[in-house]
Amino acid sequence: MDSTLDAVVIGAGFSGLNAARILRGEGKNIVVLEARDRVGGRTKHGQIAGLDIDLGGMWLAPSQVRLVELADRMNVGRYPTYLAGKSVLTMAGKTGLVNGEDFTEFLTIQEKIQAYLLLRKINHLLSALDEADPWGSPQSKKLDSTSVEIWLCEATKSERLRSLIRVICASLFCAETSQVSLLFFLNYLKGGGGLESMISADTGGGQNLLFHGGVHQIARNMAQELGSTLRLNEPVHSIDVSNGIAVVNTQSAQFRARRVIVAVPPTLTNKINFNPPLPSAQTALHTRLSMGSVIKFWIAYPTPFWRQQGFNGSIVRDDRPASPCFDVSPPNGELGLIAGFFEADHAIHAGDSNTLHRRETVIAMLAAHFGEQALNPLDYIDVDWSREEWSKGCYGAFAPPGVMSHYGNSIRTPHHSIHWAGTETATQWAGYIEGALQAGERAAHEVLRGLR
Ligand SMILES: Cc1cc2nc3c(=O)[nH]c(=O)nc-3n(C[C@H](O)[C@H](O)[C@H](O)COP(=O)(O)OP(=O)(O)OC[C@H]3O[C@@H](n4cnc5c(N)ncnc54)[C@H](O)[C@@H]3O)c2cc1C
Repeated sequence: MDSTLDAVVIGAGFSGLNAARILRGEGKNIVVLEARDRVGGRTKHGQIAGLDIDLGGMWLAPSQVRLVELADRMNVGRYPTYLAGKSVLTMAGKTGLVNGEDFTEFLTIQEKIQAYLLLRKINHLLSALDEADPWGSPQSKKLDSTSVEIWLCEATKSERLRSLIRVICASLFCAETSQVSLLFFLNYLKGGGGLESMISADTGGGQNLLFHGGVHQIARNMAQELGSTLRLNEPVHSIDVSNGIAVVNTQSAQFRARRVIVAVPPTLTNKINFNPPLPSAQTALHTRLSMGSVIKFWIAYPTPFWRQQGFNGSIVRDDRPASPCFDVSPPNGELGLIAGFFEADHAIHAGDSNTLHRRETVIAMLAAHFGEQALNPLDYIDVDWSREEWSKGCYGAFAPPGVMSHYGNSIRTPHHSIHWAGTETATQWAGYIEGALQAGERAAHEVLRGLR
């Protein structure tokens, strides 16, 4: 009997799980190999004050149709992020309160005009980009030769707007504006429907909806549907496609398959030995992309007491390490929960301290705005994603200048019978769960075509 599988899928994050779901749906004989002792990858179950929470990916935009469809099929309900009341904003030495997300209230008339002009410049640059082929745009080499920071200092004289874009860049990539290619930044915005859509928690935005019980349960349900097809604790260390059939090796087992899907972050592919070696451009791409740095924290109180004071729990400060943060309390009001992030340089520095110290930093910031009640939380938890062996950073990989325009066009190119998935290879919502699902779907269809 032929023991050769139709396909091996490497990685049981949302991307690999979706690829596996589609292949199984087509009756294919597959195995999914996951390095960790759990599924979900950059989404992860946790608990705070007895409540199930997401320690990794969490929010959903209503336009993220694949994730919406999966959640509906599994009866996982959603509720909107709490926005009623005032957000706290500090930019370039000025602190203010704004209604919900109306950041324009914070700006002087002059700054509003400059913000309008800056947004117009960004939208003009976006209109010339094709998110599936950003390296092919006439402007790509020029846009990729500079960082967001260099462009920003030319694009606006307003120090407040510069601070705002720096904070946005840290929040999208967990990296500093000086580290991220302008082409990569713009392409990312384009794939997520534009700047306003990506940073918004209001109707339609990337932070609009939360899952009852957490998004991680969707990954767990997908894994259950795969049954014994899924093998945990199986880090893949080599793939040999030199003799037509792919031979995939882990520490304890070997699998032969007609096709392979690699659904791991591109920055981790260098832990896998490929024979024949990957084309030089693909290796250059994988080694030059960097993972962002983020520590996500949750803090619990008996009630969302800040709401009584007219706050919505959002704090965005360019001068505090534990920002941004948001009210993510369950809708039944049983607890007051705030989730937030140490991002980019702040995450790198806070990574050298300890949980106790980070807890004190978070409490001090909340107490400064919401008063003494913030001094006595029920519980605190955080995760430094740079220390997760099988992620090595989050939310996703970003490109410094000079990478995407030189090697980006190889990001989805199959290598013999090896196909690439993972959110970084998506053309829409790359870096998000939706992007992971889209990439898994695309790779599964490539494999199905290849098996015909
Ligand atoms: C703190 C945080 C907050 C986030 N917030 C959001 C959010 O609100 N909304 C949103 O949409 N997204 C968010 N994201 C991003 C989102 O979680 C990711 O984009 C998405 O989960 C990536 O899925 P993936 O399948 O592409 O990759 P991963 O989830 O990284 O899956 C890859 C899998 O491959 C495994 N693996 C790696 N190497 C090997 C190997 N050699 N052999 C076998 N297995 C291997 C890994 O263990 C992992 O399970 C967040 C991420 C983090 C960390």
